[in-house]
Amino acid sequence: MADHDNEHLGTGTRLVGVGRRADWTGTADHPGAVVNPPVYRASTHLYPDMAALRAHPANVDGNFYYGRRGAPTQWALAEALTALEPGAEGTVLYPSGVAAIMGALLTVLRPGDVLMMIDNAYEPSRAMGRGLLKDFGVETRWFNSADTAAFAAAICPRTKAVLLESPGSLTMEVCDVPALAAAAKARGATVVIDNTWASSLGFPALERGADISVMSLTKHVGGHSDAMMGSASAGKEWATKLRVRAQGLGNVVSPDDASLMLRGLRTMGLRLAQETASALAIAEWLSARPEVARVLCPMLPGSPGHELWARDFSGGCGLFSFVLKGGTSAARDALIDALALFGIGFSWGGFESLATPVDPAAIRTASAWPLPGMDAADKFGVRLSIGLEDTADLIADLERGLAAWEAAA
Ligand SMILES: *Cc1c(COP(=O)(O)O)cnc(C)c1O
Repeated sequence: MADHDNEHLGTGTRLVGVGRRADWTGTADHPGAVVNPPVYRASTHLYPDMAALRAHPANVDGNFYYGRRGAPTQWALAEALTALEPGAEGTVLYPSGVAAIMGALLTVLRPGDVLMMIDNAYEPSRAMGRGLLKDFGVETRWFNSADTAAFAAAICPRTKAVLLESPGSLTMEVCDVPALAAAAKARGATVVIDNTWASSLGFPALERGADISVMSLTKHVGGHSDAMMGSASAGKEWATKLRVRAQGLGNVVSPDDASLMLRGLRTMGLRLAQETASALAIAEWLSARPEVARVLCPMLPGSPGHELWARDFSGGCGLFSFVLKGGTSAARDALIDALALFGIGFSWGGFESLATPVDPAAIRTASAWPLPGMDAADKFGVRLSIGLEDTADLIADLERGLAAWEAAA
């Protein structure tokens, strides 16, 4: 999973080194004395004297000022994420992925503007369009990611932002980000992408045409299901505007959580490689099962958007879905309940595997579900987040789940 940026070092090497500035990991006498940036728990920052307070640049990143502007623990994480996102010159941290998406949209949009949102966006992103953004005078229009020409034709002079997500939540279709972004930018719209699935390691979002790349760090970067955070990375102009808006909203992340994220980041490459390989093996196994109508896994040949994934991505992750043949909602519940190694929970990207039911028809408004070519009776989906357990054990567990599905059907 490397060679998608200009740096000469490999991803693993860079993951070990990023953010570890010697003056953040030691003292003036002993720079770089410890491996990790210490946890600076601080609301108050002190000045040696009045002259220093008066001389202080009030609004510059990376300077002690006041707790809400962060301290070396948060700066190290932001710097690390910037270094890992090709084309980025700054990163703003948010208390959650949702806060990062909203923070980016509130930076770009003004009352009267139109936001075009991909139809398979994360549901809480859709809720922003129906809720807070609507309340503040922004109109959201959802579009079918499979139809680039229709998307381009629907952009109007009021369209100021486009929210992409690829692969889309739940159904995992990969969209043509370079084509969609080029069409949006040709008409003056700013492209925000939710890049949580692949992360900057698997999809260099800014190089592929996005202006702002957002991640829920809660998923792959944290990786241990014990902390929440989000980030938005961008070139200089947008990074500055994002920071100003985030400060206006009072966003700040705890240094303890930033430290957990830095810890997770060091092993993210290894975890993603292992989870991707395991997920692909499980997806292949599922695609050969008679109970399964369709596997929705971008890494799997034949999955919606696999060709675009192979063209544009350098990595995957452990998150994918599958759709059962016919059946009932109760039988699907029996399947998930029969799994011993998969927790039932809405998150993903942790070291432990999870399963949740998927019902995209209830969410989509601009594109069909089931997908073209699928049988209307095949509608009960399951989303799996593949963790670090042994693949063979997970497959044996899924075999038990499918037996329970058969028994209940
Ligand atoms: C989980 C998730 C988010 C939101 O992240 P939180 O940190 O839970 O707020 C955003 N986008 C996608 C695709 C997600 O799966």
